[in-house]
Amino acid sequence: MARIVKKFGGTSVGDLDRIRNVATRVAKAVEEGHEVVVVVSAMSGVTNQLVDYCRTAAMMHDAREYDTVVAAGEQITSGLLAITLQDMGVPARSFLGWQIPMITNNVHGAARIEEIKTEKLEECLKGGRVAVVAGFQGIAEDNRITTLGRGGSDTTAVAIAAALEADQCDIYTDVDGIYTTDPRIVPKARKLDKITYEEMLEMASLGAKVLQTRSVALAMKYGVRTQVLSSFEDLPGTLVVGEEEIVEQEVVSGIAYAKSEAKVTVVGLSDSPGKVSNLFAPLADANVNVDMIVQSASDNGKATDVTFTIPEDDLLRAIKALEESQETLGYKDLISTDNVVKVSVVGVGMKSHAGVARKMFDTLAEKGINIQVISTSEIKTSVLIDAEYTELAVRALHTAYGLDAAE
Ligand code: ASP
Ligand code: MG
Repeated sequence: MARIVKKFGGTSVGDLDRIRNVATRVAKAVEEGHEVVVVVSAMSGVTNQLVDYCRTAAMMHDAREYDTVVAAGEQITSGLLAITLQDMGVPARSFLGWQIPMITNNVHGAARIEEIKTEKLEECLKGGRVAVVAGFQGIAEDNRITTLGRGGSDTTAVAIAAALEADQCDIYTDVDGIYTTDPRIVPKARKLDKITYEEMLEMASLGAKVLQTRSVALAMKYGVRTQVLSSFEDLPGTLVVGEEEIVEQEVVSGIAYAKSEAKVTVVGLSDSPGKVSNLFAPLADANVNVDMIVQSASDNGKATDVTFTIPEDDLLRAIKALEESQETLGYKDLISTDNVVKVSVVGVGMKSHAGVARKMFDTLAEKGINIQVISTSEIKTSVLIDAEYTELAVRALHTAYGLDAAE
């Protein structure tokens, strides 16, 4: 007998037939003798609709009331799944965030979990019932309903699995696992049997949006064995686990890309101590997150160029902030573009293998793709290239690192 947390996303509970399909899966696990906690999202599209209602009612609205509204989607699916399970003869009850209680801070719309009281859930499981938990929601100290940010029910599921010391957390979704890269770009992408937390964290933050990044960080922190699998077919998915569980580690596990990047070059910044620090101060003040940075060597010792990348959505804000401080910064010119993409090769095997970055540069050179900016971490090498070459670069790298599926 195992204790399992199963989370079902919006498409998996998209209508009553699908909710019955979910209930059948849950019933099977119960029959096998497992203790089951189910975490559900809202039906697909519902949260968007609720967010829209708030914005239409008033563009600027009280974030506490926003949470009251958007938490409603999960209330509906948790109740409906409990009803369906009961109808199938499986004892079950629903839990809203406040009923657990799942205590969060009071950052409405993006709250963080502070504590999960486990007594009521334990009692439910001990009584032989399935606990159906509304994902995405919690309660703050002042008794107001909170939500964890979009995609937050993944985080609910992992947090509950950690708190209840569950043996596994299964995340059911509309894809059947984690792939070596985006299968829409590379038809030869392969489904991975296992991936490490660290790699998944990189892939998730680079835009492979299967799991909310926060849920992966949480799974890593508490060592929750997490599986991503399809709710529509009966196949094993991808296990997200610690490095020690992966026996034959590939050097590179995946290729990720992020399209929503922008590049800014500050031309002719005087080359003296403190200038770069001055440059990034107005950006930090404007809440702009800087990612990759390069500073070119100055040829006359007087002026230098600094190039960096930021999220595309922050570009206008960044330019405004830099223009406002042009006089104090004393640079000549500002050049920017959002026509760039960041392509990354990710793999924990890089820690112990040389030549990974070189292969990346060679492969891109062979295809005539110019590298604009480079950044590296222990398990990732990223390059910024012209957006036009996204597909070409991802495909060529996928082949170069031996990731293509066999014909
Ligand atoms: N229903 C919420 C959303 O759409 C939470 C989730 O699905 O994870 O963002
Ligand atoms: Mg999701």
